[in-house]
Amino acid sequence: MKFEIPSLPYAKDALEPHLSAETLELHYEKHHKGYLRKLQNEIDGKPEAERELEDLVRTSGGDVFNNAAQIWNHSFYWKSMKPGGGGSPTGDLAKEIETYFGSADGFRQTFRAAATGEFGSGWAWLVRGPLGRLSVRSSSDADNPVHKGLTPLLTIDVWEHAYYVDYRNERGRYVDAFLEHLVDWDFVARNLDAAKRAEVREG
Ligand code: MN
Repeated sequence: MKFEIPSLPYAKDALEPHLSAETLELHYEKHHKGYLRKLQNEIDGKPEAERELEDLVRTSGGDVFNNAAQIWNHSFYWKSMKPGGGGSPTGDLAKEIETYFGSADGFRQTFRAAATGEFGSGWAWLVRGPLGRLSVRSSSDADNPVHKGLTPLLTIDVWEHAYYVDYRNERGRYVDAFLEHLVDWDFVARNLDAAKRAEVREG
């Protein structure tokens, strides 16, 4: 079976005190790897097993979609953070954030509202649409922007398992810590740059 999940891009205690090693241990080893096991059980011996993960996310439904998307979302979430992250974007990305959200603070407020406002389990995203417009979206359960033809630039997992050990029911404090101390803006900038370069190739 070819589906794999990448190693965490940092040690499990590297995001402390904002996210504990206990949270990363549970979230990566139990939840993220759990989705991989479930997907493998679901598609073992079927044609889907020969397809790319992102292709399954784009085109499948039901349990195959749920597990494939959760694998994809979590791999993207780990890369959305780094030790010593946070702060504000720079360069080209900063200009675009300013264009669509007024300022870095405007972006943070919009993103926080989406992340705390998602009623149940889900995700909040910064995405780039087909016309190059940046926007913030939330999605429920495993749903994600790839499935809708949008390009994700950043995500936060707001399922309770992402923050309950460290923040109990206080999702807002987790979202604030993510924005202030964890966001990897270099990752966001690389995603924006890749989306623009892909467009030039297609154009
Ligand atoms: Mn999760």
